[in-house]
Amino acid sequence: MKGICILGATGSIGVSTLDVVARHPDLYKVVALTANGNVDGLFEQCLVHHPEYAVMADASKADALRAKIAASSVADIKVLAGAEALQQVATLENVDSIMAAIVGAAGLIPTLAAAKAGKTILLANKEALVMSGQIFLQAVRDAGAQLLPIDSEHNAIFQCMPAAYTTGTVAKAVRRILLTASGGPFRQTPLADLDHVTPEQAVAHPKWDMGRKISVDSATMMNKGLELIEACLLFNVEPDDVQVVIHPQSIIHSMVDYVDGSVLAQMGNPDMRTPIAYAMAWPERFDSGVAPLDIFKVGHMDFEQPDLQRFPCLKLAYLAIKAGGIMPTVLNAANEIAVQAFLDEEIRFTDIAKIIEQTMSQFSPESADSLELVLTADQQARNVAHSLITALPA
Ligand code: NAD
Ligand code: MG
Repeated sequence: MKGICILGATGSIGVSTLDVVARHPDLYKVVALTANGNVDGLFEQCLVHHPEYAVMADASKADALRAKIAASSVADIKVLAGAEALQQVATLENVDSIMAAIVGAAGLIPTLAAAKAGKTILLANKEALVMSGQIFLQAVRDAGAQLLPIDSEHNAIFQCMPAAYTTGTVAKAVRRILLTASGGPFRQTPLADLDHVTPEQAVAHPKWDMGRKISVDSATMMNKGLELIEACLLFNVEPDDVQVVIHPQSIIHSMVDYVDGSVLAQMGNPDMRTPIAYAMAWPERFDSGVAPLDIFKVGHMDFEQPDLQRFPCLKLAYLAIKAGGIMPTVLNAANEIAVQAFLDEEIRFTDIAKIIEQTMSQFSPESADSLELVLTADQQARNVAHSLITALPA
């Protein structure tokens, strides 16, 4: 029986994780669930899964959850408040695995704490890895932690690696990685129309049902840019050894091209419960609740080169990882600020890439080899992006 802590339990990945957990009560016990501000959502999950701890990261919401828990059938659940409590529950003695499913940079500190405590990290929170890079991987190595990718592409790549492969090490005999992308909702939208697309259009993803931030990232293809950086880190490959492939059907979740000419692909319906179940059962497999793939219904599959003019964010991600140092941190921070501003209808869709590019131009690729340097660069890039947004003509 393994104890699991789910950071970001009320989000899209958190909910899918609890769905998988509920299928395997003999193998997994929920020790802790966390949310930012969704009191009702976390309370409902507490009633069903009865964790030992429930954390409201937004401390101002904790009393509301406490009151609900105290008056419920699960009154023995301990309610904690604030960002520090995330670290506390991620490192509990009886937690074996953590699902890192907080969105954005807010997930870094608790996920890093779990890595340092030698836990098995099921990593959905790509921003945490992108912004901290080698620091994160070093923490995993030093503590003998296990790092398993949840992002469907990286999970697919991991599945296509030799059985004994460990994330962060050199992948032997791999020629390149083919990182698939759906192309998002605007793959075929006339370029001139992109200035006027709304947040609602941007979050309406054709193949995946996800949180709002990652949905916008998919629309700009910054999601693929972050995943490119994630792939370079997880599989120890150079950016030029990763080819992004637009595959609109989202049936192949990525491929590994070996020196002997073999190309291994992992396929399945686009449902995050597959990568989640794979990582939770690893090195075995178990049921995820995902419907079997109907290959005849799929019929055919298409593959296209990405258009960097349509998707400038992807180009910026290549530039950031090639420049190295703090540049991936800066890219990620500027993107988080710009995406939020777009969702808040403060900037246009096409301004997202411009804000990121202009923010990056104000930084040079200085060293990112301490957490302090990373967090400083993250904050500075947020400040620059904010001031660029404020300066935009209304
Ligand atoms: P979401 O917005 O649906 O959920 C985010 C979760 O994080 C919520 O539980 C929320 O309460 C919590 N949270 C948000 N801000 C927080 C903060 N400041 N402090 C603490 N908790 C906070 O997001 P999601 O779609 O589930 O994505 C989560 C992560 O997984 C992201 O990094 C995303 O890139 C990655 N991911 C998601 C998918 C997917 O299909 N949704 C696929 C691959 C990777
Ligand atoms: Mg992905």
